[in-house]
Amino acid sequence: MEIVPVAFDSFGVRSMATFIKSETSIFIDPGVALGPKRYGLPPHPLEFEAEKKFWHRVKEKVRACEVIVITHYHYDHYNPRDIEFLKGKTLLVKHPTENINRSQKRRASYFLSQINSICNVEYADGKTFEFNGVNLKFSNPVFHGTSSKLGYVVEVLVDDGNEKFLFSSDVEGPSLKNQLEFMIKSNAETVFIDGPMTYMLGYRYSSASLEASINNLIELIRRTDVKKLVLDHHLLRDLEWRKKVSKVIETGKDAGVCVCSAAEFAGYEENLLEARRKELYKEFPL
Ligand SMILES: [Zn+2]
Ligand SMILES: [Zn+2]
Repeated sequence: MEIVPVAFDSFGVRSMATFIKSETSIFIDPGVALGPKRYGLPPHPLEFEAEKKFWHRVKEKVRACEVIVITHYHYDHYNPRDIEFLKGKTLLVKHPTENINRSQKRRASYFLSQINSICNVEYADGKTFEFNGVNLKFSNPVFHGTSSKLGYVVEVLVDDGNEKFLFSSDVEGPSLKNQLEFMIKSNAETVFIDGPMTYMLGYRYSSASLEASINNLIELIRRTDVKKLVLDHHLLRDLEWRKKVSKVIETGKDAGVCVCSAAEFAGYEENLLEARRKELYKEFPL
């Protein structure tokens, strides 16, 4: 199995878009977005450029896939305005009416009404699917964060018989035990997690949630066969992310587990455009 991060926050856009090449090729969360406001500023033109570039890459990779996963209905995980390239694919999506908040329910209903006639759509929550010897196992819905306010997401395990890959989606941590449970049970060698939302620490993300996330990530390292633990998305909106999760990185080092961003995993340099937005406006004034 080849695991390719296609667009991530560490590449300069809000996304967790991941391509998996195996007997059946799979794309998880084909969406790319930008933070609408950061430091009171709208996205810098360099961010719009990155958004365009990575959306093009996402579409290119999706064309090579038979199966597409959509873990929830936020626009950094799918794109309802551009759907033609999904024609003929099998879509495994978060259930559109059960365990969902009002805004995502509305979005799901609109998206599925557009897509139902051109794709084979299946609701994935808690289910297992098999394509050509590649298993996709979905968690039951878990909170998007620490409560149901932002809705629910599904985590997904891809297992091709040789290797296991786990994708957390937007758990914002994981700070909750039931978010961690599926990860522990999955026992994957490669794990992609969105990480704690430290850039909102103190107002929309509590230090108790951060501490719980750190402990849960350490537990994941200790109790599973994980070799590569990628933390990205929410965590990579913070320039100081390594400091914030230093205990996890240290534990990883001791256990021979590489804890890194998606950019590092892919061999690129990190490009935290959103976290550097203030600087971008100074360095490249409009
Ligand atoms: Zn989300
Ligand atoms: Zn997201």
